[in-house]
Amino acid sequence: MRVSRMMLVTLRDVPADAEIVSHQLLLRAGYIKRVTSGIYAYLPLMLRVLQKINSIVREEINATGALETLLPQLQPAELWEKTGRWNSYTAGEGIMFHLKDRQGRKLGIGPTHEEIITTIAKETIHSYKQLPVILYQIQSKFRDEIRPRFGLMRSREFIMKDAYSFHSNEDDLGKTYTCMDIAYKKIFSRCGLKTVPVDADSGAIGGAASQEFMATAEAGEDLIMISSNRDYAANQEKAISIPKRPKPLPTGNTSIINTPNQSTIDELCSSNKFDPSQIIKVIIFIAKEENGGLQPLLISLRGDQKLNEVKIVNTLHNKLGINVIDLYPITIDEIRNQGLCEFPFGYLGPDLDDKYLLGAKTWKNKFLRIADHTATKLKLFICGSNKENHHVTHMSWDKLGGIPLSVDIRKAEVGDLCVHDQTQTLSSIRGIEVGHIFQLGRKYSDSLDAKYTNESGGQESFWMGCYGIGISRLAQAVIEQNHDENGIIWPISIAPYEIIISIANTKDKTQTKLGEELYNKLIKLGIEVLLDDRKERAGVKFKDADLLGIPWRIVVGREAEFNKIELFERSSRNTTLMIVDDAIKKLSSEIPSKRS
Ligand code: ATP
Ligand code: MG
Repeated sequence: MRVSRMMLVTLRDVPADAEIVSHQLLLRAGYIKRVTSGIYAYLPLMLRVLQKINSIVREEINATGALETLLPQLQPAELWEKTGRWNSYTAGEGIMFHLKDRQGRKLGIGPTHEEIITTIAKETIHSYKQLPVILYQIQSKFRDEIRPRFGLMRSREFIMKDAYSFHSNEDDLGKTYTCMDIAYKKIFSRCGLKTVPVDADSGAIGGAASQEFMATAEAGEDLIMISSNRDYAANQEKAISIPKRPKPLPTGNTSIINTPNQSTIDELCSSNKFDPSQIIKVIIFIAKEENGGLQPLLISLRGDQKLNEVKIVNTLHNKLGINVIDLYPITIDEIRNQGLCEFPFGYLGPDLDDKYLLGAKTWKNKFLRIADHTATKLKLFICGSNKENHHVTHMSWDKLGGIPLSVDIRKAEVGDLCVHDQTQTLSSIRGIEVGHIFQLGRKYSDSLDAKYTNESGGQESFWMGCYGIGISRLAQAVIEQNHDENGIIWPISIAPYEIIISIANTKDKTQTKLGEELYNKLIKLGIEVLLDDRKERAGVKFKDADLLGIPWRIVVGREAEFNKIELFERSSRNTTLMIVDDAIKKLSSEIPSKRS
């Protein structure tokens, strides 16, 4: 391709709305164009990158025995109503774009495809003899993200590879899950991406295995907790750990103490020389249930610990069968709107009376009381007395009327010990989630009544897995890991072109002639070449070539008359003056070997 014909417009300045370097570089080098918030056009160079990633993905996913398919993006609401997801995906903070057709029928625009694929499996797979089946597709997904940002990292229309597998038993699902795990590792490494597989939250489905693949990068939105020997890694949402030991409370009797203006743990500690680990703090959240119920939660946590909201949602589902679609801390305004008197915030105790909720307009009028294990394990502690300006010291659970439901709802923190090996401490790194594999079990097949006939003639729900890769996010994650101050450094395997030939002075006939000859020769050798034939200064061309990130650059300059060129490697920035034929030989052996 000739750069003069390429619609190439590069920007010298950093676009104001692009916060992270990979997003800035994609915009500056003319790979993408923003259309509106979270919606981008992939320009021709970008499409080549995406297509290369797609071919790597296809090769590896086909090798697992999966079949490529293409599912509709418009999905009838009825299917989502059957799985109970229509409301949570469309109401409030739900992320599904949705509409009505001319007959008034509701449709959602696909954020994911479990409902559609399970319905197809139900209608197509009748016997155990047809199983297992793995189907996948590569297509645009639509999600009305609350905070679209960072370009292709979190966009509202993006490209995903999603695969779904159907099995007659859990063991077989486990085998495919392992195959996908291996395929994913190959895909990411072939794309030049360094990833860490981490234990992931399985959402409210519970129990089932789920693993995310995180591209390590400072700009990543996810926090990963990782043990010193790297044997354990988990998304912070899911991570478990052994917390630091609490500082024992010196002996003493239960007594009420005056704590004016000490409504925070910090104030309480500095005024009384307490350690945060000796205190139990109490927080109130509202859990919005799937059926619309609003349940106040009275949560007790050791004073030095932080709450993990994802764990609360999972606990409510797994231990109490409550499906939560939203969880938020209560505010004074809401208490007033409920017609209730103010709560003694800052002085709440785990035994706060239910009478505070009596007469609430829409809230249930009994607290659901839960406490983190770190809080319930304390024998003696300091806590609020439910009276302004007063706390209680040397309180015990007995005196509070017993231990509430004790669960793990704390955030694992840096410095905690690893639960699998207590010689290891946890530290944190940031990551970009580029893929997710998930054993769904029978959640969707049960709710959509997707069954097959088993060996003994009985009807059974399919065992299912799902496996996603964010193709467009992955492309940008590669840049986040592979760039320098001059621009992108594509790995050969997914570079839009492999070589760029820059003719230093297009007015010089020798240079132009040699450039053109080289261009044609390299194309004949099956190499993907750009010819920068623009009537621009050499410096401009070099800057653009750096920015675009093409792995090799051939500079045809003054030495052309001696049949010599300069070969420049983008990643090492090494330049070698070479005889043309030697350069061709080197490139035609090196490039194909590095393609994947
Ligand atoms: P996240 O937690 O980042 O929102 P998710 O858990 O919602 O991701 P999945 O539903 O598992 O993601 O989707 C599969 C893959 O699609 C993700 O691993 C990610 O790489 C990609 N992806 C998800 N949401 C977006 C988005 N808004 N923009 C770009 N890629 C996305
Ligand atoms: Mg998401």
